[in-house]
Amino acid sequence: MLKIAYSDIFRYSVPDKHRFPMQKYTMIPERLLREGTITTDNFFAPKRLSEDEILTTHTAEYWHKLKTQTLTRKEARPIGFEMTPELVDRGRHIAHATYECARFAQQYGVAMNVAGGTHHAFADHGEGFCVLNDVCIASNLLLNRGQAKKILIVDLDVHQGNGNASIMADEPRVFVFSMHGAKNYPFRKEVSDLDIEFANDTGDEDYLQVLHETLPRLIRDVAPDMIFYQSAVDVLATDKLGKLGLTQAGCMARDEYVLRQAKAANIPVAIVMGGGYSEDIEDVVEAHCNTFRIAQQIYFDKTTQHNEA
Ligand SMILES: [Zn+2]
Repeated sequence: MLKIAYSDIFRYSVPDKHRFPMQKYTMIPERLLREGTITTDNFFAPKRLSEDEILTTHTAEYWHKLKTQTLTRKEARPIGFEMTPELVDRGRHIAHATYECARFAQQYGVAMNVAGGTHHAFADHGEGFCVLNDVCIASNLLLNRGQAKKILIVDLDVHQGNGNASIMADEPRVFVFSMHGAKNYPFRKEVSDLDIEFANDTGDEDYLQVLHETLPRLIRDVAPDMIFYQSAVDVLATDKLGKLGLTQAGCMARDEYVLRQAKAANIPVAIVMGGGYSEDIEDVVEAHCNTFRIAQQIYFDKTTQHNEA
């Protein structure tokens, strides 16, 4: 059974001044249900992170400021959302969902968060639409609880996971692999365990070739017992922020490749969505839905005829 973390809290909407496509969190599950890729039985409602769980990864000072809504204007601005208690509560559910996805993945092979992938959150500050770092928190919880020994983060969001790189810089049990555009946000990049940068307009063929040359070697050498896969769709040519040139088919081929590699190696994979900022929200939703479709197909042999329109 494909377990999918979903909650009404994910759709908490903020003033749209930054044009973050919050509506995708509603449109993705609705489309998957309508076309029959999933049923409501696939969903689970995530719990909320406790303060102790947050403090495995974030500093006490930063968490206090989030909790008491006392970030200064200067500290809040890079996050890009208006800071509200609801936004922090949303982040706590999303991050716990990613942890729960990892646990379900250990049971079923794969599990997916309709949100998550907040890889620009650092231990002591947030930025780039990210408040709490879900994958790092989930990784720390798994390690602390003896539920994983070696974790591989496969971050294929077009933006570098600078928060992941910074938080896990001194954690040898977590290997951070990021493939991203060389010339986009964050302009000052951190150092991951492996960073691969692409020139503007890199297309399907070149992108996939690099992935094919790299991922099997990493799975062999890192030998993880858990993979977090950030399947962001801001690699698309239609994306306003990404600057790469992938097609919908290329993006889906990327997802299929990652999942087939993980499955062949018998490593559980928890999938988080990350970014997607195409002008037409349809492109974003369709590409994210493809990740769910391919997961159903590969792991549960379930194929759905979906309307390409
Ligand atoms: Zn991104």
